[in-house]
Amino acid sequence: MAIATINPATGETLKTYEPLSEAALEDKLARAAAAFAEYRLTTPRQRAGWLRAAADVLEGDTDAVAELMTTEMGKTLASAKAEAGKCVKALRYYAEHGEDFLQPKPTDAEAVGAIEAYVVHQPLGVVLAIMPWNFPLWQAMRFAAPALMAGNVGLLKHASNVPQTALYMEELFRKAGFPADVFQTLLIGSGTVERVIRDDRVVAATLTGSGPAGQSVAAVAGDALKKTVLELGGSDPFIVMPSADLDKAAEVAVTARCQNNGQSCIAAKRFFVHTDVAEEFTRLFAEKMAALTVGDPMDDGTKVGPLATEDGREDVERYVQDAVDKGATVVVGGRRVDRPGWFYEPTLVSGVTPEMAMHSEEVFGPVAALYTVADLDEAIRIANDHVYGLGANLWSEDQGERLRFIRDVQSGMAFVNGMVTSYPELPFGGVKQSGYGRELTEVGMYEFANAKTVWIG
Ligand code: NDP
Repeated sequence: MAIATINPATGETLKTYEPLSEAALEDKLARAAAAFAEYRLTTPRQRAGWLRAAADVLEGDTDAVAELMTTEMGKTLASAKAEAGKCVKALRYYAEHGEDFLQPKPTDAEAVGAIEAYVVHQPLGVVLAIMPWNFPLWQAMRFAAPALMAGNVGLLKHASNVPQTALYMEELFRKAGFPADVFQTLLIGSGTVERVIRDDRVVAATLTGSGPAGQSVAAVAGDALKKTVLELGGSDPFIVMPSADLDKAAEVAVTARCQNNGQSCIAAKRFFVHTDVAEEFTRLFAEKMAALTVGDPMDDGTKVGPLATEDGREDVERYVQDAVDKGATVVVGGRRVDRPGWFYEPTLVSGVTPEMAMHSEEVFGPVAALYTVADLDEAIRIANDHVYGLGANLWSEDQGERLRFIRDVQSGMAFVNGMVTSYPELPFGGVKQSGYGRELTEVGMYEFANAKTVWIG
C-alpha cells in the first residue's frame, strides 16, 4: 500500500510519501539505540514531567490534529477531537501514576534469606509499535505513554494511510521536550517490518490490527525470540435481556456499532436479543440506526462518515451481500451512499446464521448482525463460539445473569449496562485470536519492562 493521505470523504489523494530508504532507516535505528542509552538513565520524575508537557502540547494542538485525522481516515471531527482529548488524559494518567508504578516493590526479605529483596521494573529498550489507522492517535498513544514513562524508546510504524498523523506523533514528543529520538516515526511499508523486528537494536514489538498482520509479526518476533503484545480483531457480543432498559440499550447499541464509522475492534458487532423483547428492541435499534446522519465528517451534524478505504467498503458490501444471498434480512440500510467517497449506510441485518461470513468474521463497518435467543445461555454459547474474544456487553438488571455473563463469556473485557470502551484506568486486551497481553494501567506498562528480582544478602 502506498504511504499516502487519501481523503476517504472524496477519494482524493492529498499527499504521498516515499518510504524510508535503507540508509535512512539504519540512521533512525542507530539514533533510537543511542537515545535509549541515555534515556534509560533519566528518572521517572523527569519522564512524568515530559509526559505532562506532551499533554499540554497536544491539548493546544487538538483542533489541528483532529482535522488531520478526519482528513486521513474519515472519522467525524467531533470524534477526532474526543480522541485527542482521550490521549491527553492518558498522558496525564501516566504522568500522575507512572512514578508510583515504577517504585521498587519490596517483598518478604526474611522469607528468602535476604536483608533486602524487591522487584524493580526497568525499561527493555527500543520497542517497535505497528499501529492501525482506525484510532490513529489513540492506538499509538496507548503504546507510547506507558512505554516512554517506563523508560523505553519508541519506534512507530503506523498504517500507510495515516502518515501525517504518524509524523505528528513524533513532532508532539519533540515539542514536549523529550530527549532527541526517544520517539521516532518510521515511514515504511509492512514489508519492511520484519527487517526492523529482526534488528538487534529492537527488543520487542506491539501490534494492533488484523489477525494476518498479528500472525506475521508474532511469527517473526517468535523466531527472533522477542516479546510481543498483540491487539487484534474482535466481534464483540452485545446481549440484551428482558430486564434491560430497552431504549437505553438500543441507544448505546447504535453508538457501540457505529462509533468511528463502524471501524473499531471493540465495536459491538453481534447483537443477541432475548426473544421476549426482540421485536421491541429491533424496532428501537432500527429506528435509531436509520436516524443517523451520514455525511461529510467535517460537518458538526454528521454522526457517520465514510469508511477509511475503498477496499474496506468493498469488504463490508461483500459481507452484507453474502448474508442476504444466504437468507438474511436487511432491516435498515444495506447500500453505499450515492456520493463521492467511501460511504456506507448504517445497516441492521437480522436472521444471521452460521453459514454467513459475518457470523464468524469481523465486519469493519457500520453493520450490525442481529440474533434472537431463547435465554442467556444460548446467547453466551453463540457469543463464545467464535475465534475472537475481545470485549463483551450485557444489558440486564438481573444480578444472577450478570454474574453468569462475567464468569462465562470468553473475552478480555466484560461490560454490563454500558459500552465496551478503553480507559487508562482499566486494562485493555483480549483472549483467543483477539490477541494477548494487555495495554493501559500498570499492567500495560509492565508488558515492556524487565521485572528485575533484586536480592541483597
Ligand atoms: P492491518 O492489520 O493490515 O494493518 C495494521 C497495521 O499493520 C498497519 O500498520 C499495517 O501496515 C501493518 N501490517 C499489515 N500487514 C502486516 C504484516 N504482514 N507485517 C507487519 N505489519 C503489517 O489492517 P488493515 O488496515 O488492512 O485492515 C484490515 C482488517 O483488519 C480490518 O478490516 C479489520 O477487520 C482489522 N483491523 C482491526 C483493527 C483493530 O483495531 N483491531 C484495526 C485495523 C484493522 P500498512 O498500513 O503499511 O499495511
